[in-house]
Amino acid sequence: MGSNRRRVSPAVFFLAMVCFFLPFVTLSCAGERIESFTGFQLVAGTELKQPGFFGQVETQKVSPEPLAFLAFLCIVAGLGSSFFSGRKPTGAAAIGGGLGFLLLLALRFKLDGDVARQGQGMIQVSYELGFYLATILFLLAASLSAYFLFFEGKPIPLPLSRHAQGYKFCAQCGSRNSAANLFCEECGAKLA
Ligand SMILES: [Zn+2]
Repeated sequence: MGSNRRRVSPAVFFLAMVCFFLPFVTLSCAGERIESFTGFQLVAGTELKQPGFFGQVETQKVSPEPLAFLAFLCIVAGLGSSFFSGRKPTGAAAIGGGLGFLLLLALRFKLDGDVARQGQGMIQVSYELGFYLATILFLLAASLSAYFLFFEGKPIPLPLSRHAQGYKFCAQCGSRNSAANLFCEECGAKLA
């Protein structure tokens, strides 16, 4: 149970990383799709090939997006901190998730502005599954990490375990008794 709880945020960060392989944004012109970019293409920069006049292909360079790169760094930092933090949850995973979430919102805001300015109203940008999933996963990682951080150090009773620390269970009626009890609080039977 304890190890499952600790493994939640690395899994969420890992899934967020997978999302960077999926389409993040699509550029379209008058309802017609021009090109889609994955998260990694936004991180590293890419080329936009467009058929120009007279059959030649115009290549337009798409520069790397620092905000996408920083969001990706948050995943790496979050993954690292949740793997190497040992038994204790740390604030790094919560901060990584929260920061990643904000960076993706900022990225969207920036791309909307870029496309509106450079596309002169001709080009629309729409956001794809990878972008939305990554945003949700960042938020999930942040809230889960914050939740575990909040409950850190508070013992969580495990009523289903017969070996739960500090308790023993009555052989007669099965009810849970404090380890100090000699007789069952429910039925009065002698406890082992
Ligand atoms: Zn009993």
